[in-house]
Amino acid sequence: LPEAPVEALQPQDVARLLPRPAPDAHKYTRGVVGIRAGSAQYPGAALLSVAGADSGLCGMVRYVGAAADTVREVHPEVVGEGRVQAWVVGSGGGAGAREELAAARADGVPLVIDADALQHVTGPEDAAVLTPHAGELAAMLGQERADIEARPLHHAREAAARYGCTVLLKGRHTLVARPDGRTRVTTTGTPWLATAGAGDVLGGLVGALLAAGLTPYDAASVGSWLHGAAATLASRGGPLVASAIAEAIPDAVRGLPTP
Ligand code: AMP
Ligand code: MG
Repeated sequence: LPEAPVEALQPQDVARLLPRPAPDAHKYTRGVVGIRAGSAQYPGAALLSVAGADSGLCGMVRYVGAAADTVREVHPEVVGEGRVQAWVVGSGGGAGAREELAAARADGVPLVIDADALQHVTGPEDAAVLTPHAGELAAMLGQERADIEARPLHHAREAAARYGCTVLLKGRHTLVARPDGRTRVTTTGTPWLATAGAGDVLGGLVGALLAAGLTPYDAASVGSWLHGAAATLASRGGPLVASAIAEAIPDAVRGLPTP
């Protein structure tokens, strides 16, 4: 594997890469993200994934799945099926994840593939961000979780090369690797992020940035940076619930330096 150096995005880099509305923007030029998440057993994953996507960084959020009524109650601006520029698939998807992944693939747009959908990734992906935690990557690669945790850089790069796409390996030190070995490490965040649903918010946020036109590598690393910054703001040194991360994303954006 290529031994490219590991980069850390600085606030100035995030500010420069962040998609901002042009003066003549309308919601469609800002990008539409679609979320395929949640099931009868896990409607909350759908809500959190939508919450991460529905932070105002793209023009519109669509939701397709079993939790549509609940999603519309909590997020009135979210709409149903239609054309999207990126799909987020897999959070709380349960048994339906394989079909959701196939449906999302059929659109030929960039994908964020998370949670239950990851086990259905086999060959090279065209334009995708895979967002496993160590346990999910262990299952994909046929490795022990402890080995992924001991050598996250090695395994993130190996997975990116193997699947031919960007891999965002979550954990204490979140890494974003490209197939050519280029890698960014996320310097924001807090151990209070080790809480249910935090990853669902991240997937939605990365999807919104993909829909807004960022490359998979930039969407993954900028999204991870903002997710960590939002978590730190929401935590203020204390406990955190996943929905609070999503609520703090706009403040994390406001805290960026002027590009
Ligand atoms: P998931 O396991 O899918 O819910 O994702 C958990 C999220 O929390 C990811 O963004 C992780 O990077 C983050 N996270 C989990 N544990 C820690 C930790 N100990 N320190 C910092 N971030 C963490
Ligand atoms: Mg998860």
